[in-house]
Amino acid sequence: MYTYPGNIHIHSAYSDGSGSFEEIAADAAAAGLSYVIIADHETLAGLPEEGMNHGVAVLVGNELNRKNNHYLVLNLDKYFPGNEEDPQELIDRVARSGGLGFLAHPFEKGSPYIEKGKAQPWVVWPVFRFHGMEIWNYTSHWRGFHPSPFKTLYHFFFDRKGAMSGPPPELLALWDCYNNSGHRVVGIGSSDAHAFPYKLGPFSIVIFPYRYLFKTINTYIVLETDLSSEFVTARSQILGALQAGRCYSCFDSLHSGKEFRFYAGSQDDPVMMGDTASYVKGLQLNIAVPSERSITRLVRNGRVINEFRKKIIVLDPPGPGVYRVEVLYRRRFHHPRPWIYSNPIFLQPPLQ
Ligand SMILES: [Zn+2]
Ligand SMILES: [Zn+2]
Repeated sequence: MYTYPGNIHIHSAYSDGSGSFEEIAADAAAAGLSYVIIADHETLAGLPEEGMNHGVAVLVGNELNRKNNHYLVLNLDKYFPGNEEDPQELIDRVARSGGLGFLAHPFEKGSPYIEKGKAQPWVVWPVFRFHGMEIWNYTSHWRGFHPSPFKTLYHFFFDRKGAMSGPPPELLALWDCYNNSGHRVVGIGSSDAHAFPYKLGPFSIVIFPYRYLFKTINTYIVLETDLSSEFVTARSQILGALQAGRCYSCFDSLHSGKEFRFYAGSQDDPVMMGDTASYVKGLQLNIAVPSERSITRLVRNGRVINEFRKKIIVLDPPGPGVYRVEVLYRRRFHHPRPWIYSNPIFLQPPLQ
């Protein structure tokens, strides 16, 4: 089993980001990423630049809808417009065209003092048949986390890692609700990187440069073979893993998530995240956590059923269910911080 970190939902100079593809790929390589997905607003202008760049697979998607209901769309080779009023129509149109769609920052909250509380959450519910959703978006999280400028400045200068209080609990609850009721939804983490320059008198500063953001919330894909160095193959491996739910989100600023594993059965013939298998007695769940400084929670059907403080965990699940893993990282002198969120493994009742 091989894991590869990537950063999803990046804006380049083709829309409202500041970087060229060349700069983004160089920063991704410096951050140790294997892939990036650039998703500019309502354009596929970057598509001719898809390919391997600085050893990083650079994929192009786009982000549809401007006002609310932002929809991240991958695997389309031609642009088509969004649908602000009827996002379900957009979701179905993307799916029919072979695209992979993810709800972007569905529960985004504004901050009262940033751009007058501007936020772009999903406002049309319920929606169905989308492929997945962002459970954790770094830029969006900063925007909604801080009720006061003082708190923002404190976290920015003294405890940036502490600002990431994890995916919104109500979003995790919604995600579980979809998965527990048979509507499969793949969870991904993203940066929503723009690398905006801000003017401060004669100076122009970028508060969150790409290189910094590429070490924050990443989505690791899990493959059974090496990730190819040839672009067309790598692209299908990456999209295949995101489609299957063979991926997990990690706040890499705390500690690299590369060594994380979660599967059922044996390593030679594993039931991977995103997979479905029949529950049988003796089918064990295996979790490997990259650091001792961790608290690992096993979630069954949306409820935490076990908690562990060790690196290697093997257990017999108590029965059929939708199982996923959350890991907190125990920082010295700080509260444990949200770190890794797996996609679920679906263990169905055995056929009678
Ligand atoms: Zn957006
Ligand atoms: Zn965006």
